[in-house]
Order: sequence, then C-alpha cells, then structure tokens
Amino acid sequence: MPDTSYLNWPFFEDHHREYAHKLDEWAKENIGTDVHEPEDLEAECIHIVRQFGEADIIKTVVPEAGPEALDVRTICLARETLARYSGMAEGMFAMQGLGTGPITLFGTPEIREQFLPQVRSGQSITAFALSEPEAGSDVASMTTTAVRTDDGWKLDGVKTWISNAGIAGLYIVFARTGEAPGARGISAFIVEGDNPGLSIVQKIDTMAPHVIAKIKFENCLIPADRLLGEPGQGFKIAMATLDVFRSTVGAAALGFSRRALDDAMQRAATRMVMQRPLFEQQLIQGKIADMALAIDTSALLTYRAAWTRDVLKQRVTRESSMAKLYATEAAQKVIDETVQIFGGLGVTKGNKAEELYRDIRALRIYEGASEVQRVIISRQAMRAAGYDY
Ligand SMILES: Cc1cc2nc3c(=O)[nH]c(=O)nc-3n(C[C@H](O)[C@H](O)[C@H](O)COP(=O)(O)OP(=O)(O)OC[C@H]3O[C@@H](n4cnc5c(N)ncnc54)[C@H](O)[C@@H]3O)c2cc1C
Repeated sequence: MPDTSYLNWPFFEDHHREYAHKLDEWAKENIGTDVHEPEDLEAECIHIVRQFGEADIIKTVVPEAGPEALDVRTICLARETLARYSGMAEGMFAMQGLGTGPITLFGTPEIREQFLPQVRSGQSITAFALSEPEAGSDVASMTTTAVRTDDGWKLDGVKTWISNAGIAGLYIVFARTGEAPGARGISAFIVEGDNPGLSIVQKIDTMAPHVIAKIKFENCLIPADRLLGEPGQGFKIAMATLDVFRSTVGAAALGFSRRALDDAMQRAATRMVMQRPLFEQQLIQGKIADMALAIDTSALLTYRAAWTRDVLKQRVTRESSMAKLYATEAAQKVIDETVQIFGGLGVTKGNKAEELYRDIRALRIYEGASEVQRVIISRQAMRAAGYDY
C-alpha cells in the first residue's frame, strides 16, 4: 500500500489531500498499474488526453479563472500521482499545461477564451516550441525569426525536441523579433497546428514512449493577435512559464521514485534468498533506507517550491531549480536500485522497473539539464549573499 503520510505535511490544505486521493482512484481505474507499451503511440496519447478531458482533470493545469487559479501544489500532486501509474500519461497531462502556460499567464481574456476551452476539454493538444538544433541549453541563441507583415507575422526556422509535434492543435512558438540582441529580442506566438507553413521535418524515436519531433516554419503567416505579451517579452514569458512548471518536473520524478520504492519493497519482502526474504539482508535494508530518504528529501524540496509560489506569491527560481535537480537525480538512483533489487527481472521488458528506468532519464535533461540547474542555484546563492551575479 503506497505511503501517503506526506499529505499531512503543512504544505497542504484539505482540498489538496482530497484531490490527491480522488485522482489516485481515477488513475487506478483508468490508467492502471501495468507497463504501457503502446502499439500506436500517437493514437494512445490522443486517447489519454481525451480521457483527461472527460474526467475534467486538465483544468488543474489550464484553469478557467486565469493565472491566479494556477495552484502549483495541486499540479505537483497531479504529476506525482499520474507518474506512479504511467510516464506517458503523466507527460501528456503536463504538456497540456506547459503548452498553454504562456497563454494562461500572458494572454488577454479574449485570447484565453479563444484557445483554452478546447485544450481543457481534451479536444486540442498543445506544444511548447522553444529548443532548436543549435539552441538547447542556450535558448537565447535561437535563430527562428518572426518578421512583421502588413497584417501579422511571418515565421521561419527550425525547432527540435518538440513534444506533441504532429498531434498538437496549438503551438506556443518562440522566435527572434530583433528588438535587442540575445534574450531580449525574442517574442512568443500562438500558432495553430494546421497553419500553412508549419510542417513536421522528422519524428524522433526516444527510449521511453514520447511523441516528439523536429518541426519547420517556412513562410508561416499568422495574424497579428497571435503575439503573446509585448514584442521582446518572449524570453520572460518562457522563463515565467518554466518557473511554474520546473518544480512540477520534480514532482513527476518523485512519482516515479515512489512507484519504484513501492515495487522494490514488495519484491524485497517476498523474494526468498538464502531461505529468507531478501529484505532481511542488511545491505538491502540500507538501499531501502537510502531510497526512502531520497524520496522524502525530494518531496520536501518540491513542495517547498510549490508552497512558496502559491502562498508567499514569490518567484521561485532557486527553489524550483533545487527541486527539479534533486528530485530527478535522486529518482534516477532510486530506480536504478529498484532494478538491482529485482535482479534479472529488473532489466526485462514488461517489468515496471525497466519501464521506469527509461521513463526517468529525459527529466534530467529537459526544462534545463541538471548542469544548468546547478548554474542557476549557484548564482542564486551568490545573489542571496549579496554578490552581483
Ligand atoms: C524527451 C524530451 C522532451 C523535450 N520536450 C521539449 C519541448 O516540448 N519543447 C522544447 O522546446 N524543448 C524540449 N526538449 C528539449 C530540451 O529542453 C533540451 O534537450 C535541453 O534544453 C538541452 O538542450 P540540448 O539537447 O540542445 O543539449 P545541449 O544544450 O547541447 O547540452 C548538452 C549537455 O551539455 C551540458 N550543459 C549544457 N549547458 C551547460 C552549462 N552551462 N554548464 C555545464 N554543462 C552544460 C548538459 O549536460 C547538457 O545535457 C525536450 C527534450 C527531451 C529529451
């Protein structure tokens, strides 16, 4: 039985506890605990989003009431809960939020009303197009351009690693508009999936099931009202969105860790080695202790970041980077130990530990690789100590 005692921590209110329990019941019934090996990945991902829509779950990441209604603790609980069942489902849920975050945070009420209801109902899938072949960690060096036309904008360039590319009805695209060099010359745009000039160049096959592709904008004309915020605000919009979602990546990692530990404990309690349950070997007890400790530390950092943003209404650059860095790195170790505890079975297709081992890997790279998080945390620490960084 999963340990849910952390829900009694002071970060949470009664409505958070109720949400976590209800979502867990829903996921048990609708997603299931098995390994997910989709035959038709795109169809399966579309189906999951429709299921979320029917269950009215997407409103957690796409709230009707606008940015004030974004509750990071609830988003973290949702990602953590879903990750215990399926990495694929968790990823599809998260993308509905990441791909609309810029609209929720910076769109006018009219733009929100035009684009968000279809996303909330699961009829439209979203994508967040920031990375480029030569601009991943260093997004400020992006070269995709947006040039003003008489009645709108013209986009040209290539984006890569775009989750949901090909099945998305709505893309948030960051492009250089040239108000200033580097980060201050980027703007954010809404582009619909069927907009002429937007095409899929190459579908990318990743180790864990994930709809992701390289896309191209060629003479892609969009209306003037598809600019989000002001020209030159794109980088700020991207960073503000990541500020909300970065700690929730920690929560997804936490969900993977919790599932891994649950399975590891179950195996250790029932597998007989030398006429005794495996758990009775002290070396295994040490592993379980380290895993439980890593999980509680990840949870404390993740929910501290979420609580700070929700309750103190502060920017959480340092807290969310710490949560993302620690929880994703710790999850990799927890899952690796789970594979070890399962022995040969742990590397077998169809075993959850093997699936988790593949699911966790990308979280240490996307939304800022672990090294980038360390750069951010060190600068924040220097600033907090009064140094000019
Ligand atoms: C599964 C998956 C889904 C993704 N989804 C999206 C998406 O939906 N939208 C989107 O825009 N992007 C997405 N990305 C892209 C992701 O954000 C980038 O892969 C990431 O930012 C790293 O960029 P890069 O791959 O170009 O690596 P690079 O920038 O080439 O970096 C390679 C490595 O160098 C190291 N490194 C980088 N910078 C530093 C530094 N300052 N100091 C020390 N070491 C450093 C890190 O180890 C890093 O992993 C996704 C990626 C993956 C794997």
